Amino acid sequence: MICVPITARTKKEALHTIERSCQFADFIELRMDLIDSGNLDEFISAARKTSDSVKIIVTCRKKEEAAPAGRAFPAKNAARNIEEKIALLKEAIELGADFVDIELAKGRAIIKEIQSFSEKHGGKTKIIISYHNLKETPPLTELKKIFRKCARFKPAVVKVVTTAKTIEDNLIMLNLIAYAKECSQKIISLCMGDKGGISRAIAPFLGNYLSFAAFKQEGQSAPGQFTVGGMKQINELFKDKETLPSMAVLSAKKSQPRNYVLLGNPVGKSLSPLMHNAALKKMGIEENYIAFCVNDLRGAVQGMRAMNIRGASVTIPFKVAVMEYLDDVDDDALKIGAVNTIINNKGRLTGYNTDCLGLILTLQEAMPIKNNTFVIIGAGGTARAAAHGIIKEGGIPVIVNRTLEKGEILSRKLNCPFYSIAEIGKIKADCLVNTTPVGMYPEDKSPVKAAVLNNYKCVMDVIYNPLKTRLLKDAEEQGCRIISGLDMFVNQGALQLQLWTGKEPPRALMKKILLERLASG
Ligand code: NAP
Repeated sequence: MICVPITARTKKEALHTIERSCQFADFIELRMDLIDSGNLDEFISAARKTSDSVKIIVTCRKKEEAAPAGRAFPAKNAARNIEEKIALLKEAIELGADFVDIELAKGRAIIKEIQSFSEKHGGKTKIIISYHNLKETPPLTELKKIFRKCARFKPAVVKVVTTAKTIEDNLIMLNLIAYAKECSQKIISLCMGDKGGISRAIAPFLGNYLSFAAFKQEGQSAPGQFTVGGMKQINELFKDKETLPSMAVLSAKKSQPRNYVLLGNPVGKSLSPLMHNAALKKMGIEENYIAFCVNDLRGAVQGMRAMNIRGASVTIPFKVAVMEYLDDVDDDALKIGAVNTIINNKGRLTGYNTDCLGLILTLQEAMPIKNNTFVIIGAGGTARAAAHGIIKEGGIPVIVNRTLEKGEILSRKLNCPFYSIAEIGKIKADCLVNTTPVGMYPEDKSPVKAAVLNNYKCVMDVIYNPLKTRLLKDAEEQGCRIISGLDMFVNQGALQLQLWTGKEPPRALMKKILLERLASG
């Protein structure tokens, strides 16, 4: 069951999100500590008007136990004293909310007061007793004690939420679900944070009472939360319990390498798991692709060997650094100086670069490369991959970069011209390729002025979110042919799957799934 937390700042936004969420969510949670205007009566009435089946949770969290995903607390909440918070929960009961959430830390007297208030009002409103740790995940023994303290009040649901410092912390929270099951107590148990995504993805299949999912990315009530679209995709992908990532990873046998991972930092917003898992499923391969937010790259590569992980994608900021931990690096990747793909062949790790061919295949769909000139903005990993591929196919690269020194070093290595960004107006070429992150969601910026785009027949942006960046919009207005980074993303991902599995991946499905996700925000 999916619960959308309503965290909007204003009454207007909150009512809008309530009305939209009630059309598809099983629960909404009114985070009265985060909404700064409007009142409970209006919010509950709006929810009931939209859906008679949606369950309503009312929460007014203490500042010390709330993680509003990087948002400052509204003044109104900070000003509320404990009596006002209790009054708000009582009002929720009077208004017929389905659940009120009280922190264990509020103490026995207050919990009992709210419980008996609910009973006096017919007991329709059930109680959730919650514990939040914003700093870490305590050991399982300690969490079991906290769980038992909550369960002693005989609430409808116990909620225990911690912060993942390591990937293993997810296992603690998943084990707590199993413990609650033994105690016949409904539980919501998960980890927050970039490293806590595994618990959010797997917990529903182990019997977690509900999953929190944000209406949209900016509406996260805690870091690491998936969007509703993301959570639904996970439910769909793993509805067959035998393909659960936890089970698959943990049961990986030495002689039989399984599973694929993404090594990067941050990885929370990566669309690679969505694309690869959909493709693996379609290919009939009962393996999974999981994103790991890595702090210790050397340790992560060692872990890959130890767990016999079949393959990995490597992303920012490790594409160069990872090379020193591998046994072999393919010739093209060596020349480019970056690896974005690893194959584990019986413990021997080989690095490849599929960004290069992914970009070339995408360009070739739009125009021939041989004898054409390509201005590449940027001098980082993707620029190097683009230039290498263009030269290999008989094209002529020209480097344009913000930092002169980096641009000059690359152009000397490639034996091609270099211009500073300020000089870009002087160049005329067949195609312009942006390999900088300028224009990536949520920015609406272009790395160059619109007028210079007149000098090109074709403009490609390696960015795929948004699909049409400011650069591409400007280029289209200047009459250029435009190429989004989405096809490159699909191509580089499909090439990875080909390297790992030896099979042809379903490119059309991969693109469709990404388009749907990008359209849903
Ligand atoms: P990188 O190695 O860090 O290089 C980034 C380049 O962008 C550098 O040359 C940097 O210039 C330049 N740059 C950064 N911010 C800038 C700004 N504000 N103004 C002007 N130039 C700026 O990164 P990367 O690995 O090449 O990745 C670059 C982009 O490609 C990312 O957005 C990534 O998501 C995207 N990408 C897409 C795909 C795909 O499949 N579609 C695949 C790979 C990468 P300086 O040298 O001056 O720092």
